Amino acid sequence: MTAATAFACAACGTLFPPSAAPPVACPVCQDVRQYVPEAGQRWLGPADLTTDHSNRIERLEPGLYAIRSEPRLAIGQRALLVQTAEGNVLWDCLTLCDRATIEAVRSLGGVAAIAISHPHYYSAHRLWAEAFDAPVILHRADRAWVVDAHPRLQHWQGAVTSLPGGLQLVRAGGHFPGGTVLHWPGGAGGAGALLSGDILQVVPDRSVVGFMYSYPSYLPLPAWEVEAVAAAVEPLAFDRIHGAFPGGTIWQGAKDAVERGRRHYLQALAGELPGLRPAPGGVPRPGAEDAAARRHS
Ligand SMILES: [Zn+2]
Repeated sequence: MTAATAFACAACGTLFPPSAAPPVACPVCQDVRQYVPEAGQRWLGPADLTTDHSNRIERLEPGLYAIRSEPRLAIGQRALLVQTAEGNVLWDCLTLCDRATIEAVRSLGGVAAIAISHPHYYSAHRLWAEAFDAPVILHRADRAWVVDAHPRLQHWQGAVTSLPGGLQLVRAGGHFPGGTVLHWPGGAGGAGALLSGDILQVVPDRSVVGFMYSYPSYLPLPAWEVEAVAAAVEPLAFDRIHGAFPGGTIWQGAKDAVERGRRHYLQALAGELPGLRPAPGGVPRPGAEDAAARRHS
């Protein structure tokens, strides 16, 4: 009899419940918002993870730490640890949860609760929950994507829920129906920050944010979803956005970047950004009528 192993999907980092043989497929990767690699689905056992990777922790600002796996593992997101007087919150999650990470996070005050923006970062939430005896708080709208359920898993419903230290989870939707952002009222200067995962994407142009249904396949969201995401964060006070990927922070003016990103996005869907050809039946480009006349003469 073979001992059961908890396999992780190499493409998306999702950890599956222990089994004698690797899973047949990864439903997270089979979804249009992810992808099955050209070479097929590959599986990592615990030894693959701990011998080839380690986690690096760095302070982003007072009370906020970023944790990422090196070399890059699966999607390559970072997890963020927010320190509060009522206990720390781990925002988003990683596939690697090794002894060194657990000790380092304990020295920062441990983890009182884990919250995750959307299913692509559910990763190894069970291992982190067990290591810190902490609940994992996920939006119920995405419950079908949990492949490794456990007793510390809690689903919440509705638009907003409170976490320790005045933090709030806000359901924004968009990329996933239960797409969630974390509002942190404190931080540097007390102006507040949004921890946004992929729900509002920090992009190279820091004066806007991005929104997407499928990032790997460049599939856009409809206008009403982008409007809904922007509306969900509109009441929140923040001037910084800490996004999903290492280095992905808007350090100031983040509130304006959301509004500018929303406007750009809707203009893009409507064909109103500069440099595009007019829509069929729309106003012809200068010179287009001349060219048409020449063709028919
Ligand atoms: Zn996967």
